[in-house]
Amino acid sequence: MASSLTKGSAGTAGEKTFFGHPRGMATLFMTEMWERFSWYGMRAILTLYLTAAVLDGPLEEREALAASIYGVYNAVVYMAAMPGGWVADRLWGARKSVLVGGIVIALGHFTLALPSDATFFVGLLLIAVGTGLLKPNISAMVGGLYEGQPSARRDAGFTLFYMAINIGGMVAPLVVGYLGESVNWHLGFGVAGVGMTFAVIQYVLGARHLGDVGKEPAKPASPEEKRSMLRKVALWTGLAVVALLADVVLGTYHIDHIVNLLAVLGIVVPILYFVTMFRSPELASEDRPKIKAFAWFFSTAVLFWLIYDQSGSLLTLFADQKTDRMILGWEFPASWYQSVNPAMVIVLAPIFAALWVMLAKRNREPSTPMKFALAMLLIGGSFALMGLAGAAAANSSTGKVTVFWLLGVYLVQTIGEMCLSPVGLSVSTKLAPKLFVGQIMGLWFLATATGNALNGWVTKLNAPLGDAVYYTMLAIIAAAAGVAFMVAGKKIRALMGDVK
Ligand code: GLN
Repeated sequence: MASSLTKGSAGTAGEKTFFGHPRGMATLFMTEMWERFSWYGMRAILTLYLTAAVLDGPLEEREALAASIYGVYNAVVYMAAMPGGWVADRLWGARKSVLVGGIVIALGHFTLALPSDATFFVGLLLIAVGTGLLKPNISAMVGGLYEGQPSARRDAGFTLFYMAINIGGMVAPLVVGYLGESVNWHLGFGVAGVGMTFAVIQYVLGARHLGDVGKEPAKPASPEEKRSMLRKVALWTGLAVVALLADVVLGTYHIDHIVNLLAVLGIVVPILYFVTMFRSPELASEDRPKIKAFAWFFSTAVLFWLIYDQSGSLLTLFADQKTDRMILGWEFPASWYQSVNPAMVIVLAPIFAALWVMLAKRNREPSTPMKFALAMLLIGGSFALMGLAGAAAANSSTGKVTVFWLLGVYLVQTIGEMCLSPVGLSVSTKLAPKLFVGQIMGLWFLATATGNALNGWVTKLNAPLGDAVYYTMLAIIAAAAGVAFMVAGKKIRALMGDVK
């Protein structure tokens, strides 16, 4: 995708720059900042809103169900990145896909703002479709702005972009979380919609700085390919709707059916994708080991995001009920914890970018497999801390622990994120053979989808196992994955060939 985005060159000599980067970066920076504001704002209150206002039953059951829905929803949104990438590559080009995606997301948030629980799931669906169109393609457009430029400059561009993501992600829970939790849920969702509207306006106004990036689809689909895709989409959507209706009519429907289906899809879709890529006659034999190396990174990323993304579900519920949130006699909203990680990213991203450069100069920069191994040890370590926090809460007379536990957990997670997320984005583009850049990028986001899809099952173990056992168990699994990655590091580096 990224490889074919630029026909002309954006940010050419003489044009104004954005912190030394192509001027088009300002447009993408601001658009992604507001888009992430709306996404993370909505996510900050989703579990709490579902538990408090939508679901019925005893608190423990509502919480477990809310955490499942949250996991499933994240999975659907990130899975939508695959078809979203296809639409850009084959139909509309990235530029138009991002625009349409942005408008659909804004409509989704405004639907959530309606004071009705009945339309709620329609709003979520719109946000998923829109994000699928926007997220992978705006990331690819960032790559397009740096076409033909040195790889270090591209990395710096992605670090800047990662900061935009996290500025939006930091401010959103403070504003949307406060309004949603303390004033009215739907007002919170509405404000997320206003943020997304800013993103669209900004994108339209700044489009002139993007040169030709993303204007055309990389490989336009023939009319026959379009018809065939339409038939497939109609067939599978039809089957899904019929199955759902039959389930409802028979009176057997349960949310678990969707949770289970997605968890299975989360595993099957990437496997099918890897197999299809391997079988493709267009994949040159020297590129095959690189795809194998990517499969290692993919599987580890699945486990990383599986643990990491529980911060919006189980950890938010822990913040809500088992953390003392009083400051000078005022209790701050639980959703505010969602700002902690992005704030830490904003501080740490440039430090880590500089650290890698400094270590590289001394020839001591850890290899990408080593960074991934470190990320796994760190994310495991964060859940080991959570296990201790859970035990401390259970043993405390108030049932609550101090704010420092979660702050510590998030700090360790964020350091892990620095070793995996920007690194993963960049290694994906480097390992991808030219013809598969879009698909590899989609697969990178699919790792998040799979992690979240499995969370539909995994988070259910929290209540029966109790906090201490549950978090410690995941910590051990992550640490084992980290050690396995270290042991396999040499083999993975060999598969990567000339990619560093
Ligand atoms: N926090 C990052 C973002 O919002 C990473 C998300 C992911 O890849 N799971 O883009």
